[in-house]
Amino acid sequence: MSDFLICGGGVSGMLVARGLSRRGARVRVVERGVCGREASWAGGGIVSPLYPWRYSEPVTALANRAQDAYPELAQALADETGIDPELTECGLLMLDADDHAQALSWAQRHGRPMQAWQSTQIYAREPGLAAGTECALYMPSVANIRNPRLVRALAASLQAHPAVEVNEQTEVLGFETDGDRMTAVRLLQQGRERRLQADTFVLTAGAWTGQLLDMLGLSLPVTPVKGQMLLYKADKPLLSGVVLSKGRYLIPRRDHHILVGSTLEYAAFDKSITGQACDSLRASAEQMLPALSALPVLRQWAGLRPGAPDGVPFIGKIPGFSNVYVNAGHYRNGLVLAPASADLLVALLTNTRTALDPAPYDPARRGIAPVPPHS
Ligand SMILES: Cc1cc2nc3c(=O)[nH]c(=O)nc-3n(C[C@H](O)[C@H](O)[C@H](O)COP(=O)(O)OP(=O)(O)OC[C@H]3O[C@@H](n4cnc5c(N)ncnc54)[C@H](O)[C@@H]3O)c2cc1C
Repeated sequence: MSDFLICGGGVSGMLVARGLSRRGARVRVVERGVCGREASWAGGGIVSPLYPWRYSEPVTALANRAQDAYPELAQALADETGIDPELTECGLLMLDADDHAQALSWAQRHGRPMQAWQSTQIYAREPGLAAGTECALYMPSVANIRNPRLVRALAASLQAHPAVEVNEQTEVLGFETDGDRMTAVRLLQQGRERRLQADTFVLTAGAWTGQLLDMLGLSLPVTPVKGQMLLYKADKPLLSGVVLSKGRYLIPRRDHHILVGSTLEYAAFDKSITGQACDSLRASAEQMLPALSALPVLRQWAGLRPGAPDGVPFIGKIPGFSNVYVNAGHYRNGLVLAPASADLLVALLTNTRTALDPAPYDPARRGIAPVPPHS
């Protein structure tokens, strides 16, 4: 029997598993598909919220801690597994923010480097951008991570750890409880049902976490928000860093390809890609960087973000149970927030001092409720 059973092997679940195993716990991760192949794979990998000053303090607190933790995490994973997550401090240039004063004051308060730029500086750094931008905000220390590599490295590191068992192709079907304790998880593994016991259970099923809580008669306001992305094939550098305008962004990869993101769609659990989204993303991208109009789109994909009210994730024990915890609802910022969210939950799970005040993320305070009868 494991000490901890983690339901969902995205970045949220794998980092909790990593943190617990490094503290000597026996951990099992159960994942319906392949670890890290849902939102954690689909995301853009910007290691910062977009327009970060517009988020609430609880999001900023997690983001700041996580941004500082990423270089060590990426290096450790590359050393352990040989898979380099390609963390690149490429900067974030925001072309359309009109609330400069608010942004600069936020940056100063939080010690995050930010500069207000005029057109000379903008075009000196990014000569390929369409003409006409007079001013912008630039955050030089923002990084990007190649998230498909990050999740591959995390999975490889967990699989190599002697105290961790990873069960892929293993779907959580339901739970067994006894009073205020969860006693076992019912699973479907390669067509066969089985049950697994553990001391403590952690729900990290991203956009599907609400479905798991539903099985316990609780409703959690985490809803899927579809995002579609494009990848342009380029064979020479077109951009130096991430560029953001009107909520859409361009991300240069180390191989020069350019990622374009992303749509925000409320379409339940539908992950299909659409021609309409492709046209809309292409229009945004080519307006920002006209050279893209001559380049082929290599790939289009979609993922489901775990949307939560105000983008503040739920991290902590769920009400009514003494041994069931959740780490979900990171919405658009699940990659940037992941290391700090996992650290917070691991501290709560191991009864050690938390680096952040857990109250703003406490599920009991933030809207987990019994499902009303006949709902
Ligand atoms: C298009 C797009 C762009 C994004 N860009 C960024 C960005 O630039 N920066 C950033 O910080 N964030 C970004 N995000 C958000 C980020 O990707 C997510 O917030 C984050 O990956 C969520 O991680 P997670 O582990 O909670 O969920 P997921 O990665 O979705 O993992 C949940 C896992 O649980 C598993 N699961 C579900 N149900 C069950 C079950 N019943 N049994 C077993 N397993 C189950 C799933 O298979 C899945 O693997 C983006 C997201 C999208 C879609």
